[in-house]
Amino acid sequence: MRRPLGSRYTLGELLGSGAMGQVYEGVDEGGTPYAFKLLRPDLVDDPDFIAKFHQERAILTSLRGQHLVAVHDLVVEGNTAAIVMDLVRGGSLRTTLNAAGGTLLPAEVARIGAGIADALHSVHLAGFVHRDVKPENVLMDSSTPRLTDFGISKMANASKVGRSTMLAGTPYYVAPELVDGKDVTPAADLYSLGIVLYELCCGVTPFVGDSVFQVLRDHCEKAPGRPNSVPDELWDVIANLLHKNPAMRPQSAELVSAVLLNLSSRLVNAPVGTRLDLPPAAIPLNHGNDNETVLRVPNTSNSAPAKRRSRVLPVLAAIAVLLGGAGGTYALMSAKENSSGNGAAAATPTGGSRTTTTTTELTTTTSSEVRITTMPDLVGKNVSAAKDALPRSMKVEIVDQVDEKAAPDSVLSQEPAAGQPVGDSAKLVVARIGVVVHLDSQPLSSGSWSTSGDAFVVGMGGKQYVHSLGTSFGSYYCATRTYAAEYNLSKGYRRFVASAGISDNSESTALKVQLEVLADGRLISSTSVGFGSTVPLDLDLTGVLRLKFQYQVTSGDKTCGASTFALGEAKLLGLAREIPTSGLPAASTVSTTTTTSR
Ligand code: ADP
Ligand code: MG
Repeated sequence: MRRPLGSRYTLGELLGSGAMGQVYEGVDEGGTPYAFKLLRPDLVDDPDFIAKFHQERAILTSLRGQHLVAVHDLVVEGNTAAIVMDLVRGGSLRTTLNAAGGTLLPAEVARIGAGIADALHSVHLAGFVHRDVKPENVLMDSSTPRLTDFGISKMANASKVGRSTMLAGTPYYVAPELVDGKDVTPAADLYSLGIVLYELCCGVTPFVGDSVFQVLRDHCEKAPGRPNSVPDELWDVIANLLHKNPAMRPQSAELVSAVLLNLSSRLVNAPVGTRLDLPPAAIPLNHGNDNETVLRVPNTSNSAPAKRRSRVLPVLAAIAVLLGGAGGTYALMSAKENSSGNGAAAATPTGGSRTTTTTTELTTTTSSEVRITTMPDLVGKNVSAAKDALPRSMKVEIVDQVDEKAAPDSVLSQEPAAGQPVGDSAKLVVARIGVVVHLDSQPLSSGSWSTSGDAFVVGMGGKQYVHSLGTSFGSYYCATRTYAAEYNLSKGYRRFVASAGISDNSESTALKVQLEVLADGRLISSTSVGFGSTVPLDLDLTGVLRLKFQYQVTSGDKTCGASTFALGEAKLLGLAREIPTSGLPAASTVSTTTTTSR
């Protein structure tokens, strides 16, 4: 079948169809192939939608990027409106995932995730929130992931028809704030990306309730269960992306892309995960996990005292579940839309023969104020449980601290201490999951090491250390020289952890080296290391811009020939949303504390 579209294009075969319309293959007058998304007739009939379509044209067609499916033209002709875009022949990420047996190698998950995040960065910079990040909207150009369908939700949102019938993604990828009817920010796309990465690792999305309603509730109320096979570092990124509170997710898609790209090279040896039929049980958040931002829905079947901060889920209250086609689709109405519509859940079928509209009412509970005179013991408690134990009027300052040992989001220390009188404010130091960046991946701003990089494995005190940095001393002058290596950390890290020592294959066993570590010129550690054992370093880097190591041989044999001083497994720990993207200027820093007034 061939038919003209406008004066410049000819449409060919149907490639597939989705919620917003049908996608055809076709060519322009010069024979260049494109994909054409022909939008649904009810959208084309809507003047608001078409106005927005024209309004967004310039910006949408100017968006380009290695990981984007470029939009070349928006055509409106008679009762047809089409988006003309790159034709990508490799199928979608869904096809790739299925072909691979349902899971991808962790390194691939990170690489593909980095590509999607890179695309989202451009989309966000252009002022769009995608709102429909899912494997179907990532097309594979041989092995390069390319994101498509950006900008569609913005156009759809401009019109009543689009808004009330637009599929806000499948329920499996939707961010909790979207369910909650709150303002949607780019962080919503990061959440969906987190779900996609989760699925690429283990073959299922984290929340798979019996109903769409249950899935949406789970996004708001449950923490994802962790599949065993996901490597720690990748899990840290996914868990951060899946934070319920958009403000707690990584700061930008750009940062996520950089972190994932870095991970993809480090996870090359991580084995592929097992494909699961069901995700590991999701964890209800009011049972002591990360429930800082959880939306508590009153449990009508139990008469436990109402919890403070309980509130309705306005959009859930107006979910129109549209059971159409194969998998069942649904539409979300915005909270505002719902309230102006007298609370009635209106839904327009988007296809399929059977339409069921389900309306669920959830009631608000009255909040009760906590009254206390002395500070309770909050150490070890989850931060939100801790906040709940304090009066609402109190200003609570949360200080994040990277801590690998304590439970994530648990309180490490408090001020005032337990038993002290309650004041108007309190400070809680909270354990956060750290992202690890090996020092050997960072550029030096001055000085040098003689050996570093992935290939440098050093044996010290009988143990092997990867990601090490070392200096092999020359024969004569080693004892008179001060060696140095300095890094610019852009204030993005919280801790430095390494083992300092002398390599086991050193010629000089009597060698002693004095190591000094300076943070912005201030001495933060001074230690003497010798042959046969290592000294653990664990230094606070909060707010540190320049990190400098200087060291000198203080005693040894006549020569220090073939002796190596090393920092074994040297790593920087930071919070995902704070660590700098390599190459970003120092201005990319974030304050290290957040004060919440409630
Ligand atoms: P969905 O809701 O699944 O994203 P779409 O309407 O966006 O549906 O896409 C429908 C089908 O067309 C999909 O199967 C997709 O693989 C295919 N498709 C969409 N865009 C392109 C493109 N630019 N190049 C090639 N195929 C495409
Ligand atoms: Mg699509």
